[in-house]
This record gives sequence, C-alpha cells and structure tokens, in this order.
Amino acid sequence: MYDYLIVGAGIFGAICARELTDAGRRVLVIDKRDHIAGNIYTECTEGIQVHKYGAHIFHTNNRKVWDYINRFAEFNRYTNSPIANYKGELYSLPFNMYTFNKMWGVITPDEAEEMISRQRAAYIEGLQNSRDTITDSNSSDTNLKTVGISASVTTPITAFIPQNLEEQAISLVGTDIYEKLIKGYTRKQWGRPCNELPASIIRRLPVRLTYDNNYFNARYQGIPMGGYTGMIERILDGIDIRLNTNYLDPKVRKQLDSEAGTVIYTGPIDALFGYRLGNLEYRSLRFEEELLEIPNFQGNAVVNYTDEETPYTRIIEHKWFEFGKDSEGKDIPVTVITREYSHEWKPGEESYYPIGDEKNLNLYEEYRQMADTLPDLYIGGRLGEYKYYDMDTTIEKALELVDRLIQCRFT
Ligand code: FAD
Repeated sequence: MYDYLIVGAGIFGAICARELTDAGRRVLVIDKRDHIAGNIYTECTEGIQVHKYGAHIFHTNNRKVWDYINRFAEFNRYTNSPIANYKGELYSLPFNMYTFNKMWGVITPDEAEEMISRQRAAYIEGLQNSRDTITDSNSSDTNLKTVGISASVTTPITAFIPQNLEEQAISLVGTDIYEKLIKGYTRKQWGRPCNELPASIIRRLPVRLTYDNNYFNARYQGIPMGGYTGMIERILDGIDIRLNTNYLDPKVRKQLDSEAGTVIYTGPIDALFGYRLGNLEYRSLRFEEELLEIPNFQGNAVVNYTDEETPYTRIIEHKWFEFGKDSEGKDIPVTVITREYSHEWKPGEESYYPIGDEKNLNLYEEYRQMADTLPDLYIGGRLGEYKYYDMDTTIEKALELVDRLIQCRFT
C-alpha cells in the first residue's frame, strides 16, 4: 500500500514524489506516456539532446529553486539569445540596441529612444484623431507603465487605451518593430490577426536600451547537462514508477485507488471529470523534426520566423543548447532541427498553451470547485491548474504543496 499515488511524471509530479519520499512516505508515480519527464522530456539523437515537446531553457530569479534543482543536475552556461528572421533580415531579440541598430542604423540609446517615441507618438496621434480618448495626464503615465515600458520611452501627454493587440504593441514599441518582428509571428502563434486579439495578451514588451541579447535576463539560467530526462531520472531515483498507465482508464483507476491513500493528480483537470462541463481550450503545437548530415544549420539554438508567410513560428537547432558538443565534449558532426508550427487545439491533441480568457477561466473555476469536494485528491501542475507555468514556478508550486501535505497530516 502506498501513501501517495502521483499521476504524472513531469517536473511537478517528480518533485512531489521526491519530497514525499524523503519525508518518509511511500510513493507510486504513474504516467500514461512511455517516458518520464512530461513536457520537458529530452531524447538523445546522435549525441544531441532533443527537446521533444518544445525548447526548454531553465531560468529563475529564485535562489531557493535554483539551489534545489542543482541537486539533481549540473547546469551549463547557456543563455537564451534568440534571433528573429524577417524575410532574410536578422534581428536580435529581445528588442535591444543591436535590434535598433540593425533596424534604423542608430548607435546610441538616445537615438533609439527618440525613434521609438516618434513612431509611437505618430501612431497614437493618428488613432486619437479617429476616435474618442480619455484625457488625463496622470493616468496616462501610469497606464503606460503598467503595460511594461519604462516611463522614458513613453509619450505621456494624453492617455491612450489600446483596444487590441496591434494598438497595444505599436503603442509600446512603434511601427517598424511591430510590422517586422511582432505582427506576423503573433498572428501565427494565435491564429488570428493582431487587431482581432485582446490587448491583454501583450502586457509587457521588454525594450532594452543596452546591447544585451540575454532574453530572460534571469539571475540564474542554463540547461541541465545531459538533458532534462536525466535530471528527472535523478529526482525520481529509488521511487516506484509505472509508465503507459492511464489513471483515467476506469479499470486502472479503480486498481490504483485501492493501492494508495491520497492522489496527487497533474493531468488536465477537465479530463478528470470526463469533460462533463466542456473542454478547456489550448493552443497546440506541431513539431517537425529533421536529422541533417551537416554540422551547423543556423548557428543558433532558436531562430524565430517573424513574417506571416513562413508557416512555422521558429526553428530550434538543439545541439546549440549544449554548444554543439556531446557528453564527452566532442564536436557533433550532424545536427537535429525542429520546425515548430502553432495551431488551434482540438480535443485529444497535446495541450500546450492555455487560452486563459474569461470563458475558459470560468470553466476552470467550476472544475476546481468540483475537485475541492473530492477527498484525498490534490491537483497541481500546468494542466491541473490550467496555467502557463515556467519550470521554476512549477517547482515552487510542487514544494508548496508538499509542505502543506506534510504539515496537515502531522501537526
Ligand atoms: P507536464 O510536464 O505536462 O507533466 C504532466 C504529466 O502528466 C505528463 O507526463 C502526462 O503524460 C501525465 N498525465 C496526464 N494525464 C495523465 C493520466 N490520465 N494518467 C497518467 N499520466 C497522466 N518553462 C521554462 O521554465 N522554460 C522554458 O523555456 C519553457 N519552454 C516551454 C515551451 C513550451 C512549448 C511549453 C508549452 C512550455 C514551456 N515551459 C517552459 C513550461 C514547462 O513546460 C512547464 O513548466 C512544465 O512542463 C510543467 O510540468 P508539469 O509536471 O506541470 O506538466
């Protein structure tokens, strides 16, 4: 008999399993897939760790989480510096002085700031002429600050309330950056033009007036050497695991429930209730992987294709997450690339990005309330909570849950 059954061997389930085991509980972990590690699963091809469910770069500002995860993996010094390819023109991301220099030939931060401000002001003025606006100079500055641009790169004369994502983006970074680096990419990602998407999708658009391509700008960043699967294997060391085991198969569930006192479920919350109130919606991804007999395809791990015509959103060249070296430090003569396509999710497909609009959040809340009535069942992780969580937040959430469980049982 187990104290805990953990449904899902992703990072959330694995951390719960480790901590509960270390606290003296008997734990069984199951996963319906034929592998552990959930969506951070990596698989070795020709010495290259391939991120099978999308590129994953660990980054955090949380020292506790960083120290914790370093117990299970040695992280390399990888820093995410994606490149944008717009019809063959290459730009640095996130938007920084390298981007502005390439876009406009400007050299100094003042020149860049001036260019952005001018474009923003012209755009806002054009829109203001064509529709009613709220005039309040104090709320103007606050409004623009809350959407994430430094006050110095704003034109806080008249408040501007963006009505859609296009207006939001241009009011933050100006027309050129929007047209070349945001418009097409966002359309592909969300399957709709920017002027039909809510402004709230882009709350912040980091604009850096420094020559710094470090995308995440986190205090700690890197890739676990030897891949994420090895890291999860070490987290789960010594713990019973059953793969190819679907908790939602009624016979399997009955058997498993009889083997464990408490269940921690990290699968989709709507699936747990047989979708009886309807499906929660996601954006999904399709990956097209190719092994190429050349040593270098694009010279960078991540290249985003920001025009509308290229059907994929980005190409990942996995070997550059580990600097093109195999586990013995030797150069790898071949390469693996993955083209990433974004599409509308249909029931039964892999769920990637929660839609998170009002309709879906309300539905989630209803499922959450149903789940709260079930005894000895805890729900967590990105699917259980219907939230986009980075890995560091997922770890934090798992550690919090275990703390609660241990305290409520034994105090
Ligand atoms: P999952 O990894 O999805 O694990 C859940 C597990 O439960 C799965 O293995 C599933 O098979 C299993 N399961 C579900 N239902 C059942 C069932 N009925 N029976 C048995 N098993 C079941 N985060 C970062 O920090 N950096 C990044 O660069 C980054 N990149 C990302 C890129 C993409 C494309 C996406 C979508 C996410 C990215 N993330 C990134 C977020 C990261 O993937 C999540 O934080 C992490 O995967 C969450 O782990 P989890 O354990 O909650 O979920």
